Amino acid sequence: MKSFWLLLFLIVSGLTQDNSSVNVYRIETETGIEIYAKNSNLYPVTLNYMVEYENLTPSRELPLVQVLQPNTDQKLMEFEFSNLAAGWEYSSRYRYYMGDVNVRHNDSFAYRLPFPIGEEFLLTQGFNGSFSHQGELPHALDFAMPEGTPIYAARNGKVVMLEGSNSKGGPTAEFMEYANFITVMHDDGTFADYSHLKFRGVNVELGQNVRMGQLIGYSGATGFATGPHLHFVVKKAKRGGGFVSIPVRFATRRGIMELQAGESYIGY
Ligand SMILES: [Zn+2]
Repeated sequence: MKSFWLLLFLIVSGLTQDNSSVNVYRIETETGIEIYAKNSNLYPVTLNYMVEYENLTPSRELPLVQVLQPNTDQKLMEFEFSNLAAGWEYSSRYRYYMGDVNVRHNDSFAYRLPFPIGEEFLLTQGFNGSFSHQGELPHALDFAMPEGTPIYAARNGKVVMLEGSNSKGGPTAEFMEYANFITVMHDDGTFADYSHLKFRGVNVELGQNVRMGQLIGYSGATGFATGPHLHFVVKKAKRGGGFVSIPVRFATRRGIMELQAGESYIGY
């Protein structure tokens, strides 16, 4: 029986090691087993760890929900052998998602419009836009702009994800996977996505710190897009997986405000 569980564990951890940047693994000691979790992403992840066991005493309550900070390899917990003579069983499953579920957005922050100062662009879709801003991330903004318009960071942060190699775009959801984008993590643990950038329109590197107002890329129409525009959204991890979007405010010539679809805004 022991070997069956051992095999199962190896299969589970083997599968997740292949395509995963998060790995939970164990080390057996004389008195029990120690469980470690490694997160090799640039961003924190929230881990859900579930175990079935016999003749082991866990050091923490299960199932476990644990935030793993970026680039860390930490001990999660341990199991003590409670009856070594009778053998023991252990089988774990886990899943994780991007971001720390416990963060709070700094609602007093005024974002910078992410395009050149003095240039004017129409907001074609605002919060809860009926074309594509329903569902999971309703607080997204679409600024119509010609391909190749310089895009500037709306807030300080670290580049944690990016894609710049796509060249396809189109008006239906099947093009979604071809979007070029930059994801910046802010100091409050929220993320900003800058999407539909042009082919090779990413001007930053993974792990790079960017300052508000810094050039980060160039607009385009890659992915699910009817034409060239910038899709911008601020989001944070949602309990259980995925994201929630956040209704943010921008500094504009008319003061700090939520932006409205159908209005034009001048870079400020
Ligand atoms: Zn959009």
